[in-house]
Amino acid sequence: MTGRIKRKRLQASWDAALARVPDAVTCPLCERIIPPAQQDAHHLIPKSRGGHQTVLLHRICHRQIHALLTEAELERTYCSVETLKQHEGLARFIGWVRGKPDDFFERTRKSQRLRLR
Ligand SMILES: [Zn+2]
Ligand SMILES: [Zn+2]
Repeated sequence: MTGRIKRKRLQASWDAALARVPDAVTCPLCERIIPPAQQDAHHLIPKSRGGHQTVLLHRICHRQIHALLTEAELERTYCSVETLKQHEGLARFIGWVRGKPDDFFERTRKSQRLRLR
């Protein structure tokens, strides 16, 4: 008898835990929900250049930023979500990834330009 009561109480606390889940994180780049397993912190100014402020992005969106831009370019021009969105290659990527499921991920290839360095 006590067993059944205990299980009931567990069920109730589980429901409460689910209700307390914080609001879903939205990716500022593509504006889709980021599943917890895909959350990546991006330093708006590269950490190697003294940046501290981070934004949470999809891993795939984050990889795309670094596949297209060097740290110097990030620091100089693309140190905000607004300017990142204006980058031609990223704008194209955002348009493409928006049509994918929230947890979509595939290997990001470095752009030809960066690979040749
Ligand atoms: Zn980053
Ligand atoms: Zn994203």
